[in-house]
Amino acid sequence: MLLRHTPKEITERTALNINPAKTCQPIGAMYAALGIHNCLPHSHGSQGCYAYHRSALTRHFKEPVMAGTSAFTEGASVFGGQANLLQAINNIFTIYEPEVIAVHTTCLSETIGDDIPQIIAKARDEGKIPPGRYVIHANTPSYVGSHVTGFANMVKGMVDYFATANGHKENRINLIPGYVEPSDMEEIKRLAGELGVSTIMFPDTSNVLNGPQTGKYHMYPTGGVTVADLILAGSSQGTVALGPLASGPAARALDTKCKVPCEILNLPIGLMATDTFIDTLRRIAGVTVPDSLNIERGRLLDVITDMHQYFFGRKVALAGDPDQLISLTEFLVSIDMWPIHIVTGTPGKKFEARIKEITKDVPHPVNVKAAGDMFLLHQWIKNDPVDLLMGNTYMKYIARDEDIPLVRFGFPILDRVGHSYFPTVGYRGGLRLLEKILDALLDRQDRDALEESFELVM
Ligand code: SF4
Repeated sequence: MLLRHTPKEITERTALNINPAKTCQPIGAMYAALGIHNCLPHSHGSQGCYAYHRSALTRHFKEPVMAGTSAFTEGASVFGGQANLLQAINNIFTIYEPEVIAVHTTCLSETIGDDIPQIIAKARDEGKIPPGRYVIHANTPSYVGSHVTGFANMVKGMVDYFATANGHKENRINLIPGYVEPSDMEEIKRLAGELGVSTIMFPDTSNVLNGPQTGKYHMYPTGGVTVADLILAGSSQGTVALGPLASGPAARALDTKCKVPCEILNLPIGLMATDTFIDTLRRIAGVTVPDSLNIERGRLLDVITDMHQYFFGRKVALAGDPDQLISLTEFLVSIDMWPIHIVTGTPGKKFEARIKEITKDVPHPVNVKAAGDMFLLHQWIKNDPVDLLMGNTYMKYIARDEDIPLVRFGFPILDRVGHSYFPTVGYRGGLRLLEKILDALLDRQDRDALEESFELVM
């Protein structure tokens, strides 16, 4: 239903969420697990959750997303899901032959209190896990957190189960890319490659959820971090984690478990955050930045300066995930746009403090809310209109009702393609974002221009 009945008057709500700006934890855990080569994600709960999580990812990536389910019925809901999971592990290894089963929980199995490590140990004791195969897990109750924390929990699970210190440090850096697109993961690897830095990236969904059409179906596509590399991550010389919420827990766990020191950075979206990422890799690996990257940076800078008149003072409303929004807000402020309404569905007070700090010099009042919803965002927009919306597909209802252009950014994007193939991280990703912003603003300018001011040349 369109939102044209959203009232302008804002009423304080504490127990009601309308059009949440997030999805549930297992979706993030499933996405992370797909970034391990030869891995089948497994949803420990009812078939409804599993079907929703798979379809959410399939709709976003336009690729078939495979997973298993413990298929709870009334019996499992009362007596616990141990028997179902043991049977599932046996069936999956026998029929689908993955190297890894990555189990995540759901609201139901968490409420029952199923002890997944105990069930995995029992499966091993009973010989249901063949030699050289693994079952890992993450707890992802969806009545707390969001898809981002589910992602973070599964990535930490990769460290907990696999990373092993081999006694000496290898000349290699771990990269934890955060909850970003396969195209972004590819770009982060490419940037490290341009610097000549040897890396292990986990998870890695490039060539899993953005693979080519070959005419043949592969249940386990060619991409994904290998188990061998996940084990080796414990003896890398350092870790660069991108996005504190999505990647911080795994990076800290690796430091604690294997004494691999970590630097936790913002996602490299925009000029400054990409500079920080490049500079950190340069410093840790002891390399110099090649001309090729300076040229990419210079191009981004060129477009920022050439097009500044179109960005300056344009008001923007944003909805999305904390790690993305922090970097995106910083980028928009750096090009003199005014992000004035910012909502994430993921809880966390640090987010609000950080956004306030980034926007402190924006010459306009700024609204920010964590654990907020799109209904509130819409109300803010009704009270203080903006020139541009940036966020996921659910923002299109606000865009239509308020007649404001929308740049699709974040998760999920259900009604467009491109996000899986073209990054928004790095200097090239920054250029793509600017292109999308300019297209949206200038298309609107052309649409609304009077005949005498309808310009051929910008
Ligand atoms: S919120 Fe809980 S019950 Fe609903 S789909 Fe997610 S895991 Fe399942």
